Amino acid sequence: MNRKYRKTVIAGNWKMNMLASEIKPFMEKLAAAMPDKKACDVVLCVPGIMIPAMVREGKKCKLHAGAEDCSQFEKGAYTGEISAAQLADIGARYCITGHSERRQYHGETDMLINAKAKVLLKEGITPIICVGESLEQREMDLTMEYISYQVKAALSGITASQMRHVIIAYEPIWAIGTGKTATAQQAEEVCCEIRAVIRGIYGARTARAVSILYGGSMNAGNAKELLAQPDIDGGLIGGASLKPADFAAIVKAADQ
Ligand code: PEP
Repeated sequence: MNRKYRKTVIAGNWKMNMLASEIKPFMEKLAAAMPDKKACDVVLCVPGIMIPAMVREGKKCKLHAGAEDCSQFEKGAYTGEISAAQLADIGARYCITGHSERRQYHGETDMLINAKAKVLLKEGITPIICVGESLEQREMDLTMEYISYQVKAALSGITASQMRHVIIAYEPIWAIGTGKTATAQQAEEVCCEIRAVIRGIYGARTARAVSILYGGSMNAGNAKELLAQPDIDGGLIGGASLKPADFAAIVKAADQ
């Protein structure tokens, strides 16, 4: 973390878990376990239908509501989709884009993710752009090349001033939901490379202002070491964000 130049962000990703009716009791437990004043921004990304309840209940913990995905289109005949404008209208401040589960199960491409990041920025929503290599790519020593490609593709056409409102999350696919965490050194190496790619496109001032998160089985036990790395500015947390005590413990680790 480097709080001098950039925000520390702890973002949960509930995926397709929980019900809207479970948000209130969850927040009561979280509020009891979480520090009142926090040195980091705390976000919970939830399915679109749960955002209004998350906005309302999140105020108790000074927590922001985020979405898990949005349409790449601004408006129109796209049945079943939710636009960035609609997310902004109900209070979403952040939105994940390019999660590996969307890439895998919905065939999302780097071009699509780039288009989604752009519509989100237009609506004042911070995109949390996920990148990450597969186990095969890591074993073939292709991690840096692949991540660098993903970052460049996701940021194509995004200006330096917009870049200050973008978050990148490094999520090695082999570490998501598997209980296998990248070591702090592995995670730092890639996050440092991501910052170097951003520096190459936008220059040093912009690069040092961008928050880069690590995601992949982050939990109460390993958060402190991961967050102590200079280029890791927070976490994107799946499983542990469903448990108020564990999520609060990660927020506490980010506060130290
Ligand atoms: C995720 O889905 O973004 C994630 C990091 O999940 P988990 O923490 O469960 O590995």
